[in-house]
Amino acid sequence: MDYGMGPELEQFRLEVRAFIEANAPAIPPKAGVRSAENRAEHALIMEWMGKLYAAGYMGGDWPEQYGGRGSAYSSERDVVVGEELARARAPYFAGAGELISHALIDFGTEDQCQRYLPGIRSGRDTWCQLFSEPSSGSDLASLRTKAVRTENGGFRINGQKVWTTNGHWADYGYLLARTDPDAPKHKGISALVVDMTLPGVDVRPLREMTGTSDFNEVFLDNVELPADALIGELNSGWSIANSSLVHERSSTATTVVRLRQSIGALTDLAKSVHRGGRPAIEDGAVQETLGKFTAEVEALSALVYANISRWSRGTERVHDAPMAKLMFSELGVEIARFALELSGEAGILVEGDPGAVDNGRWQDEFLYARAYTIAGGSSEIMRNIIAERGLKLPR
Ligand SMILES: Cc1cc2nc3c(=O)[nH]c(=O)nc-3n(C[C@H](O)[C@H](O)[C@H](O)COP(=O)(O)OP(=O)(O)OC[C@H]3O[C@@H](n4cnc5c(N)ncnc54)[C@H](O)[C@@H]3O)c2cc1C
Repeated sequence: MDYGMGPELEQFRLEVRAFIEANAPAIPPKAGVRSAENRAEHALIMEWMGKLYAAGYMGGDWPEQYGGRGSAYSSERDVVVGEELARARAPYFAGAGELISHALIDFGTEDQCQRYLPGIRSGRDTWCQLFSEPSSGSDLASLRTKAVRTENGGFRINGQKVWTTNGHWADYGYLLARTDPDAPKHKGISALVVDMTLPGVDVRPLREMTGTSDFNEVFLDNVELPADALIGELNSGWSIANSSLVHERSSTATTVVRLRQSIGALTDLAKSVHRGGRPAIEDGAVQETLGKFTAEVEALSALVYANISRWSRGTERVHDAPMAKLMFSELGVEIARFALELSGEAGILVEGDPGAVDNGRWQDEFLYARAYTIAGGSSEIMRNIIAERGLKLPR
């Protein structure tokens, strides 16, 4: 099997690379993954997102009347864009804009599309994903936030959400709430748009062990939504959410790029630190570990490209994406742990500390790597899907 991209896509890659070099905002790279540090920085990143949409590098699969590329679109192009953004370590906004846009395009009204899609494309509006709750993450369908119909046909929302990435910058939220408490749990949920400036919406940033605040608790206390906040049919929120989550698939290719970068930096680290009076890179055990990581990343790369190929041919299997997700997230934890081990005592220093190894990169990666084993479905859930639905093992 040839997993190469072919000359046309490699030409496209050069075009994207040049675009990123010329246009990405000059925000200095940080030690790890994190939300914008202030509103001005967030605005710069959103403006950059707007440029990516305008150039056709994002949202290419949207219908042409909303700015999509029509027959010029291919999912491989999305992969190339993701890889190049990761390669350049360019800022990127991890919000819910892509997610909600697909929900609106597939299930929303023409009026909703006209109202919300332009703000996503231009980078004017920031969206967050209001799905998870304190007792509903893996078992999302058990969510308890209520949306009760009001006399004017609208909805009154009460409940609590958590883990809301970038909720503190969001103008709008893509909400799942229970509209029929008597229906089976998957069938009583609706999808709604929340204007985050409405009275009763209280966003409280959570401070994480990395020291930063990327996500939030969101309290919804008698929030009144208009009737046209509903996306699609009443009580069809579960299938809307699942259908829009499918559009997150192309992002796995970027993880291969990031893991390769980490292994490159890890190799440099092994050259610069000493073990037993010699550079650590000369230690056979260190070489063996670097070799193992490299082999695993290349295996992941083959899997990711095979998945992309199956996806574009419509032959994707249910356990394909979970296998890749499991591999990249668990490998990320192992690489960061090994980097800290090599760093010795200096490994506990963080970004900005004098003497911090690689300006605290590894300390941050070590603390943050765990998040990837949870976000978007935990490792245990991925293993369950692979076992039960892929290998058809008993539940
Ligand atoms: C960085 C990050 C960003 C996020 N951003 C958002 C966001 O913007 N919006 C949003 O809505 N959500 C977001 N999430 C939430 C994410 O979707 C949930 O954390 C995830 O689904 C897991 O749910 P939970 O945290 O409630 O853990 P739980 O579901 O309570 O799981 C706890 C533990 O039990 C295990 N477990 C649970 N069920 C099973 C089972 N059936 N079999 C075996 N083991 C099981 C899990 O693997 C885990 O180890 C984010 C999470 C992270 C880490």
